[in-house]
Amino acid sequence: MIPVTSLGEAMRFLKGESTIQPAKVDREKIFSVLNEFPLDMHDVKGQYQVKRALEVSAAGGHNLLMIGPPGSGKTMLARRVPTILPELTLDEALEATKIHSVAGFSKDFKNGILTTRAFRAPHHTISDVALIGGGAFPKPGEVSLSHRGVLFLDELPEFKRGVLEVLRQPLEDGIVTISRATTSLTFPAEFMLIASMNPCPCGYYGANIPDHECSCEPGSISRYRSRVSGPLLDRIDIHVEVPTVQYKDLSALPTGDTSATIRVRVNKAREIQHQRFEKLGIFNNSQMNSKMLRKYCVLDDRSHALLQNAIDKMGLFRPGL
Ligand SMILES: [Zn+2]
Repeated sequence: MIPVTSLGEAMRFLKGESTIQPAKVDREKIFSVLNEFPLDMHDVKGQYQVKRALEVSAAGGHNLLMIGPPGSGKTMLARRVPTILPELTLDEALEATKIHSVAGFSKDFKNGILTTRAFRAPHHTISDVALIGGGAFPKPGEVSLSHRGVLFLDELPEFKRGVLEVLRQPLEDGIVTISRATTSLTFPAEFMLIASMNPCPCGYYGANIPDHECSCEPGSISRYRSRVSGPLLDRIDIHVEVPTVQYKDLSALPTGDTSATIRVRVNKAREIQHQRFEKLGIFNNSQMNSKMLRKYCVLDDRSHALLQNAIDKMGLFRPGL
């Protein structure tokens, strides 16, 4: 790897007019990531079931949707997901670095290489071109900049419907194809989607906070929720409620595990999945088809009873379940 900062420098090097020392990649040295992360799951008090859901997501490669009122910590939690994902391998780091370099962001990296998983959080006013990639000289969009990392969409129903629809190809295939009149370009886009939304337009439906009663009309709540299409929701395996933590409880609550401790468990779970799926051509639980589900996720009697109960009580029905 010969690092250059401009085309002119590359030309001079290729003509033999200058010498540049190859970049030495000492993985151990540049990848001591956890010490570099300024954030830790440990910073967030309470919210154990949300942290648990994020851990399961990180382990199995599942997309996740958090639903909760403003101030419940959804963004804080999402920002900490890269700290519990496995460290980037050197190959993954080079892959992600290439994309960021094409997009013109390589100056941001220490040692010229991206050493931590990306966390991208585009605002809900983003255009579909900025999300998916494109332009007169096609550049990678946010879905590709989050390759091997996390794409966080805060306030999911606020994104334009067309913008959310273009997410379906990368979520399904892990790549994104940008078509031009004369050519088409493919960028990698394998990311973990973490999305968040309020339970209703005002944000306080079911929040149980004094002086913050929900003021929404019933019709507006269902309209708000239906802004996110079924096919997109179907690609988000885990939906979790994020309740409000009362201030008086904050100081009393223990902090829970550190990111380093959680990451050890995530790595172990990934190792088990690696062995399970080695000959099947997939990598993690989220990619299992229904045949694999029947084989690897056999329910015991208690789990069957729990599911049956939930289906009866909540009126859930899926043909073939
Ligand atoms: Zn409301």
